[in-house]
Amino acid sequence: MSDCIFCKIINREIESKIIYEDDYVVAFPDINPQAPVHLLIVPKAHIDSPLDIDDKNKELVGHVYVIAKKLAKQYGIDSKGYRIVSNCGDDGGQTVHHIHFHLLGGRFMTWPPG
Ligand code: 5GP
Repeated sequence: MSDCIFCKIINREIESKIIYEDDYVVAFPDINPQAPVHLLIVPKAHIDSPLDIDDKNKELVGHVYVIAKKLAKQYGIDSKGYRIVSNCGDDGGQTVHHIHFHLLGGRFMTWPPG
């Protein structure tokens, strides 16, 4: 989508430090990190939110979790644990309407989230 900030990052129209890329996803550091490691794993296809996951694209979510595990290992947060978050809609705290998965680690996470 032409006015989507994550599409622009994926298409290199906006600079970002892409630390992982394959045919389906890219990953880059969040501009406003909430933990020592805070990466965003973003499907290349423009999907608005988790509400748009269906039988046709559901494999993408499993792929994201496999890549999250690889990145967690690469960034040294796999042994103590990490959190994967996908905010959905206004009450879920979603601010960018292109589906993405936060990978957070490097500190103890409290529960419940705010
Ligand atoms: P959400 O609030 O939708 O769950 O997450 C959106 C995330 O994208 C936020 O954590 C925000 O800091 C991050 N973000 C927004 N714009 C940019 C940007 O231009 N570059 C990067 N790297 N992160 C961004």
